[in-house]
This record gives sequence, structure tokens and C-alpha cells, in this order.
Amino acid sequence: MSRNIEQSAVACDGGIDGADIDAVATALADADHVVALTGAGVSTASGIPDFRSEGGIWDEFDPAEFHYSRFKSDPEAFWDRRIDMHEAVYGGDIESNRAHEALATLEHRGLLDAVITQNIDGLHREAGSESIIELHGNAERVVCEQCGRRTDARPVRDRVEAGELPPRCDTCDGVLKPDVVLFGEQLPRTALQRAQEHAREADVFLAVGSSLSVEPAASLPRSATRSGATLVVVNLEETPVSASAEYEFRADVTEVLPAVVESVDW
Ligand SMILES: [Zn+2]
Repeated sequence: MSRNIEQSAVACDGGIDGADIDAVATALADADHVVALTGAGVSTASGIPDFRSEGGIWDEFDPAEFHYSRFKSDPEAFWDRRIDMHEAVYGGDIESNRAHEALATLEHRGLLDAVITQNIDGLHREAGSESIIELHGNAERVVCEQCGRRTDARPVRDRVEAGELPPRCDTCDGVLKPDVVLFGEQLPRTALQRAQEHAREADVFLAVGSSLSVEPAASLPRSATRSGATLVVVNLEETPVSASAEYEFRADVTEVLPAVVESVDW
């Protein structure tokens, strides 16, 4: 507990405690199973606007227009707005950042077993991560509602912009849906189970850039610590599990993660 107080004091100075960076690097090197959970803070560092915060995407767009029931009842209108939202979210030059790259490096060097992500932008894969569990799907894919076939979303968006409303599957003519969890849809069961297994198995659990305020993200670090994992939280603001974190960095993910990678004694 004293460490948390100490960390808060450090955060007030806007610095990152080098001794704690070293300690996290050592913990990663010593662990058998390491898992990272990533949230919006990892994407915003790539220029992707936050959805939930004030002035975020849901201030500009009505969430009701992106509900699964809306998709089912009026896929034309759904896709028409979806293209506008995609432009608002990803219209800039979006690239993976140093936090994505640091996690990919840890995985390639055998120190990270899985990235569980709440993000749908596909930037972990772009940065080179391979063991990725996407809790909310991936906006760079579409899925056919009829035959379940998944394909690249880019050519489909082009077709929508060219007037194909709604876009349809090349194989079975079913209506295509962004391969993301829409409001009113269940999380993918397999992804959720795999995430929970990784959390229970983890010796070190890194919670990175997530407010940890929505399920299932909120319960994964709790599950990990119940199983004895060392919890490391990297987030600009306090989280509901900050008090049980062994190391907490209230700092930018693009500074903390590369510093940890740098500090590992390879
Ligand atoms: Zn199909």
C-alpha cells in the first residue's frame, strides 16, 4: 500500500520512477506467463479519438444509430452512418505507436504471452503482435451475417462509398456487418474465455491505457491478482484496481512501455 502512495507522489511530479521501471522489467523477465490488457489510452496515442470521453465520438454520433437492432432493421442507414463515423475516427493518418511496438517486442522476445485488447483498430497486429485477443472485434474486418465469412473491411468500405448499400457477401449474398461488437451484441464467447484463462494463469498482468471501468476489462485484473499475479497499471488516471497494483504509473503508455523494454536485461 505504501508503494501506491509513493507512486501517486511520483505521478504528481509528472515523472516515471526508474527503479519501478527496472522492477517491472525484472518481474517480466522472471515470470512464466505475462498478459497485457490494453484500452483506449493505447489507441489515443495513435491519434484515434476516444469514444466515451467528453467531446469524444459519442458526442458527435448517436450510439443508437450503431446498435445491433438498427443494423438488423435498416442496414442501409446503418452502413451510411458507419462510413461517416469511420472517417471521423480513422480519417487522420493512423499508425501504431511506441506502446504497440513495445508490446510486440516483448512478445517476440518471449516475455509476453498475450495481448487482450478492448480496441478495435487492429493496431496491435500492425505493430507486429501475433497473440492478440480482441474482446470487441476488429473494425478492419467485416463478417457475413449469413455464412460467417470474415474478410478485409477496406474494399467493402470502398463499395459502400460507391453506393452499394448495404454491402453483401461475395459468397452467399448475405448482409455484411463490421466485425465488431455492436451495442446490443454479446462479446465473443471464445475471446472472453481465452482472456479469462490468460488472466488466471498470469504471473504478471499489465493493464495498459484502460480505465478498467467496463466489463469484462474490469474483472480481468481482479481475476489475475486473485490468482497471485503481480498487477502493473499504466494509465493517466486512477483505476478501480489501482489500490491493488504492485506498480502503478500514472503516465503516458508510450513512455512507460518503451522504458520497460529498454530496461529488460535481454
Ligand atoms: Zn456469406
